[in-house]
Amino acid sequence: MQDDGTIEANARTVARAGEKLAELLERPLAAGLYLVATPIGNLGDISLRTLAVLTRAPLIAAEDTRHSRKLLSHYNIHAELTPYHEHNATRELPKLLARIEAGYAVALISDAGTPLVSDPGYKLVREALDAGLMVTSIPGPSAALAALTSAGLETDTFLFGGFLPPKSGQRQTRLAALRETQATLIFFETAPRLAKSLEDMTALLGPREAVVARELTKLHETLHRGTLETLTTEIESQPVKGEVVVVIAPPSADDVEVDDACLLADLEAALKTMSFRDAVHAVTEARSVKRARVYQLGLSLTKRGE
Ligand code: SAM
Repeated sequence: MQDDGTIEANARTVARAGEKLAELLERPLAAGLYLVATPIGNLGDISLRTLAVLTRAPLIAAEDTRHSRKLLSHYNIHAELTPYHEHNATRELPKLLARIEAGYAVALISDAGTPLVSDPGYKLVREALDAGLMVTSIPGPSAALAALTSAGLETDTFLFGGFLPPKSGQRQTRLAALRETQATLIFFETAPRLAKSLEDMTALLGPREAVVARELTKLHETLHRGTLETLTTEIESQPVKGEVVVVIAPPSADDVEVDDACLLADLEAALKTMSFRDAVHAVTEARSVKRARVYQLGLSLTKRGE
């Protein structure tokens, strides 16, 4: 039960927000492309500017119009909606540019979060800029940053890797290319692919700290913390549902100082007198690097020799 003071204070906050929105709504919306972020699950994560732009834009380009109609109806927004996604981009892009050139504001939204972040829009932005049209971002939610900021891993330097390839071979190649990147890594993933992806991450990146952020901003938001290895075991035995982001700590300093060529040379020398297992162990110990990395390099050597 709230006391009278709290009720009054809350009413003032509501009124202030309403006044600000009303003020924004009175301003004309200049012609241009507006990249508008929308909630990633929690309808409360919508900003006043987002509401103001979506209310005034005569045309909203949406990845999936049926999906976006639900969000817009919730806020009583009934603008014209047109689909814009990777399959119709070639056809629709010139039409959207023509609308902006004719003096209209066009808002671009995706199913959730920030457009262009593993979502359509890059080509549209590029061509709008090349055509000298106004392009502006109305920032807001993105699962990548929500996951990064709640993961408790370093945030100074991070690399957003989007979705990894669905095929394991290609995924491993991509992960190998990122192994020495001195940054926290962020990947989008789907729940059904999560266990296999974590397995590859463990093999290629070693026992780093990591977080699986699930259903962010929603009722069942969960952050699974551990190392890549423990998370793999956890998710394999108890598969998760919903939307997930994987955040992985940067490599330890030791791991990046020694380059692959050096380790390969060590391995080649060790393999002349030792078993594969002993050679991997000896090089891991001698160089103070991750066993998984030496193991993978050892495998590449034996494959080369086959
Ligand atoms: N553009 C969106 C953004 O900025 O958040 C991302 C779109 S991408 C097609 C969809 C992926 O984002 C999902 O597969 C998942 O990896 C991640 N994602 C979206 N919403 C999420 C949520 N509420 N919790 C966790 N991950 C989410």
